[in-house]
Amino acid sequence: MRFANQAGRGVIVLDDGVADLEAVSGGRLGPDPMAALQNWDEVVQLAASVDRATGPLDEGSLGCPVPRPRQVFAIGLNYAAHAAETGKAVPEVPATFTKFPASLAGPHDEIEVVGETVDWEVELVAVVGRRADRVAASEGWGHIAGLTIGQDVTDRTLQVAAGAQFSLGKSRRGFGPMGPWVVSTDEFDDPDDLALGCSVDGETVQDSRTSDMVFSVPQLVAELSAVVPLLPGDVIFTGTPAGVGVGRTPPRFLAPGNVLETWIEGIGEMRNPCV
Ligand code: ZN
Repeated sequence: MRFANQAGRGVIVLDDGVADLEAVSGGRLGPDPMAALQNWDEVVQLAASVDRATGPLDEGSLGCPVPRPRQVFAIGLNYAAHAAETGKAVPEVPATFTKFPASLAGPHDEIEVVGETVDWEVELVAVVGRRADRVAASEGWGHIAGLTIGQDVTDRTLQVAAGAQFSLGKSRRGFGPMGPWVVSTDEFDDPDDLALGCSVDGETVQDSRTSDMVFSVPQLVAELSAVVPLLPGDVIFTGTPAGVGVGRTPPRFLAPGNVLETWIEGIGEMRNPCV
């Protein structure tokens, strides 16, 4: 099941269009996409019985599929090759920061390039569907509603401006594109092994697999929920693989006019123009 935010309304994405959640639930669910994530089991059940679109898919009006999470977790250095390219050791616990929720954006939104060091980071984003409080890794997937694509766009200068302030440097306006939709976990043969990557102006710059993560999605659920409860509608940016601009020789960064395309196997693709 694919769940999207089309023009601010929660919709189920079908092959021939979208089914408006409020319409097909008789008004019980929606239109707020966040309400769907509070009632995810019901949405998945409903999706199984919906066989007809209520309108066309309008990709241009897709917004962030999880527009107002209460908590955004983001993990640094979660791929060994990426840790190596930045000259850092792989941490023994997840290196965790946040992207402030107002920085989240849609799958086709513009990225406003500020300064000379704005960088790309393709990431698998796990969306929490059931409250998780001190959950074991073996139960971790059971608390995830689905997966989507994220870009952890980063201002490398602001990221280290005060020694380290990852959260602010990763939270400029529009620095968290997500989408194009959330795919429920049951749709994946192996949700722990998905190809992911991104390109700048058609040139592939990151190309990896989520099976290379140091801490898998269920391990992250365990590690994070040991500290603080994870709530329905929270999102976890699970870290980026190798190939970021700052790790290149010479370094390379985004500039106005660039087009950043980002994909993950089994989910789809985002396309974000830089301005
Ligand atoms: Zn990141």
